[in-house]
Parts: sequence; C-alpha cells; structure tokens
Amino acid sequence: MPPMEEYFREIAPLWDSFHITNNGALHNQLQDKLNIYLRVKNTVLFCNGHQALSCVIQAMGLSGEVITSPFTFASTTHAIVENGLVPIFCDIHESDLTIDPHKIEELITNKTSAIIAVHVYGHLCDFDAIASIAKKYNLKVIYDAAHAFGVSKNQKGAGSFGDASMFSFHATKLFHSIEGGCVTFSDENLIEKLERLKNFGIHSKKNEDIGFGKNAKMNEFAAAMGLCNLRHIDTYIESRRRLVDMYRDLLSDLQVIKLFEPQENVEHNYNYMPIIITKNKFGINRDQVVQALEEANIFPRKYFYPLTSDFECYRNLYHSDTPIARSVAENILCLPLYSDLEVDSVETTCKIIRALCQRSVS
Ligand SMILES: *Cc1c(COP(=O)(O)O)cnc(C)c1O
Repeated sequence: MPPMEEYFREIAPLWDSFHITNNGALHNQLQDKLNIYLRVKNTVLFCNGHQALSCVIQAMGLSGEVITSPFTFASTTHAIVENGLVPIFCDIHESDLTIDPHKIEELITNKTSAIIAVHVYGHLCDFDAIASIAKKYNLKVIYDAAHAFGVSKNQKGAGSFGDASMFSFHATKLFHSIEGGCVTFSDENLIEKLERLKNFGIHSKKNEDIGFGKNAKMNEFAAAMGLCNLRHIDTYIESRRRLVDMYRDLLSDLQVIKLFEPQENVEHNYNYMPIIITKNKFGINRDQVVQALEEANIFPRKYFYPLTSDFECYRNLYHSDTPIARSVAENILCLPLYSDLEVDSVETTCKIIRALCQRSVS
C-alpha cells in the first residue's frame, strides 16, 4: 500500500468533481503516465486484467483456434474460451517457462487466428521468433503481460511486442490499482474499439451509436491507487531485487533447487521468486517443501498448478501435448516475495528448505 495520506490527497478532489468513473481526470492521468512508464504508444485502462484480455481478443475479431500455453493463470485460457475460440495448448521452454516457438508451427492449422503467449514471472517470451511465425501464417499475437509490468529489453517495454499486450493491476501484482488492468498496442484503430467494448459498445463521441460491448471501465478510486503506486514503483522493484538476490545467495548451492537465470539484456521486475524442486536422489518433492514451510507458517504458492488444460472444465477437451509444462507444474513453487518482506523471513524460509535437503542426505 502507498502511504495512507498520499492516497487520501489523491482522492480528495473527487468530493468536489463527483466525476468518480467513466474516463475521469485520474483515469486519464494514469493512462498518460503508463504510456511513459511502460514505454508504449497507447494504453487503454480496464477494471481488471481479465476484462482487458477478453476485450482485446474481441476487438481483434479472432476466430477458430488460438495457440497458447497451459502454464498460466486461469484467466488466459478462460478469456480465449469465453470468446468462442478453441485453445490449442503448446509446450513451454524449460529455461524460462515461456511458450516454445519451435513447437508452435506444428500446431498451426487453417483455423488458427492467433498466438496468445504469457511472459511468465516477467520472463519475456521469444518475441522475435513468435513474430516471424505470426508473419508467415498471418496470425495476431497477444501477450499476457500480467507479470511483466516494468520489464523491458534493450529499452523496449514488454508491452510493445506483438499486436497487443495485457497488464494486470490486481492487488497481488507488482503494480496495482486494487483491481485494474490495461491493454497496450501501437495500432491506433484499436483505441476506439477498446473504448467502446469497455463501455457497453457506446461510441465515445457519437453516443447514440451503439455496438456490442460490456462494462469494464476503471473507476477513479482505482486510478488514484494506481497513481500513488506508480510514484513508488521503482522503490518496490529495488526492495524486491534485494530480496531476490538474498534468496538466490541462500539457495544457489542446493542441487535439488533450480533457480531461473536472468534473461540477457532484460531489465527485470523481480515480481516472483519461482523455484523448481528438481528430480533428486534424495526423494524430496515439491509438496514436502510446501508442508515444511507451512508448518512454520510460511505460505509459498504452487503457481501455476494445475495446468489450465487440466482444469475440470477443460480436461480432455482440447489438444494438449505438453510434457515440459506438466512436469514444471508438478515441481514449481513461488516463495513469498513482497517489497516489505522481512530479511529474517527470507532467511527462515531458506533455512527450512536447506534443512529439508540436508536431512534427506543423511
Ligand atoms: C493476474 C493474472 C491475470 C488476470 O488479471 P486480473 O487483473 O486479476 O483480472 C491474467 N493472467 C495472468 C498470467 C495473471 O497472473
């Protein structure tokens, strides 16, 4: 949370203006500031990331099949399915857990209209390889950049790749507006389409001109929270960087634990602290690590588990031959990470993990 007084100052003018939603002043300010911070041409704000993703899929008029990864949050797959599209699940890279472009081409059929890929934990997808496949087969590319706020490569913002990207500003994310999200893109034609979709299909200038739409607008109280958090974002990232460095120092010598190497030329956001419990001769598995930590009141997350293709509502419905994603989902763990996490807690977490590994040796 930002300082309470700062938030109160930000929302105070709303008691005079009464303009508390529908493209208010704070909404517009946040939109402009995000264009700069995210290094993108256009940003359209939404009430949450899921609606942002769903609306951009709709705005692009996709049809048929969409190639995507099952190693993601429920939202990505739900957004595809709720738009009447068929998700075709593609496997991921072991090194950074993003979609493996080498496995995309064999999944393309004459029904494929898009690739929806995820910058998992802020690791950027191989966007050059994906762009050349998309060009060859005339496919749209949308990135679920919910984890990639503030990530850039060679000065290019994560939100500037593909045809569009979605960011989530949910309370649990690195940058938040309580609930919120946005779509970023360069094609100016998308602006009016997205603005209409998020406001019941009403045209922003000709308000008797109504198309299809839903209600997915960001209100002023959410935008105010976003403006406050944006002022502190660099401090949040820096605190997380220090905590991540500490975790890495305390865990890197353990053979049982796989850590993720930073990507080259990428400015990372230290959003998550994922580890993989690798197959080991000591017989330690992910669930034992979870249990040992939970006994000490430390709550890591099995994030993402299960694969979305294994959800009860999707099981056996769609093509999914993703052995790497399956094995990762069974062994992945995200350790506690937030900017005011105590250094002592990081030490305790690592001590418990180390003790477990050492106990198993003897
Ligand atoms: C959080 C998240 C979303 C959904 O965002 P909301 O703002 O919670 O709707 C989508 N995809 C991924 C990968 C996420 O982590």
